[in-house]
Amino acid sequence: AAVFPERRKDEFGAISRALREMNDSLADAERTRKQLMSDVAHELKTPLMIIQGELELAHETGAPLPADKQASILDEVLRLSRLVHEVLDLSKLEAGMTELRPRTENLVALLEDLTEKIRFMVEDKQIDLSLHAQEEVIPVSVEKARILQALYNILTNAGYYTNPGGRIRLLVETAYLPDRHQSYARIRVEDSGAGIAQEDLPHIFDRFYRADHSRARPSGGTGLGLAIARQNILAHGGWIDVQSVVGEGSVFIVYLPMGRMER
Ligand code: ADP
Repeated sequence: AAVFPERRKDEFGAISRALREMNDSLADAERTRKQLMSDVAHELKTPLMIIQGELELAHETGAPLPADKQASILDEVLRLSRLVHEVLDLSKLEAGMTELRPRTENLVALLEDLTEKIRFMVEDKQIDLSLHAQEEVIPVSVEKARILQALYNILTNAGYYTNPGGRIRLLVETAYLPDRHQSYARIRVEDSGAGIAQEDLPHIFDRFYRADHSRARPSGGTGLGLAIARQNILAHGGWIDVQSVVGEGSVFIVYLPMGRMER
């Protein structure tokens, strides 16, 4: 009978520890939510100001909007709508509210399609884009659209931040990771682009983080591309890494757990 109160004390200790941890993680979630609100508000402000300014001017002067102003307003509206769409998608992913519908796909075939899709973008800049696969078939269990989106974001960044005449190499292979007791597909996206400063590297997967403001995309980019890519990859049980040297280029490395090819 003497052991009983002791055990009880242990249980109380464990329960109060668990409650404290729950409280801490709720406080964390609340901080993240507040930060997201203020980040989003900040990002919405500039395009809204531009649109408001142009329309007010047109309204006051009564002059019709010239075609170039119409085009720039439309650009800002499209940017706003992309931003809203991406913020919603990202917050659902972060909250674990996105239900994946994975199927077995051949990663090599997905990458072949993807390189064809962005070929027009790199051809304009005469970038040499190549794909090297260790095997013809590398099965992964993924929701195709989500993984394509993640890789598309990484590849278009490589295309964007690489100078004309540069090089982008995509390598895909399989690797058994003993500490995880599992085989992974490993995708490397290597570019000969601008590179990323060491102090920026830990932050580039953060939402709205842009390493060099003067170089960051003038329009189009929302600063959410890598955050979305990372969350999509994490949702699939994988992860993403980056290595970079300023002036030499960057390497993004994506790991995805291997699936089995049915048939
Ligand atoms: P953005 O919409 O600005 O491209 P991302 O989330 O896709 O947002 O990328 C975040 C930042 O990481 C970029 O603004 C850029 O500074 C840096 N970055 C991403 N990919 C590369 C790359 N391949 N080479 C150099 N810098 C990169």
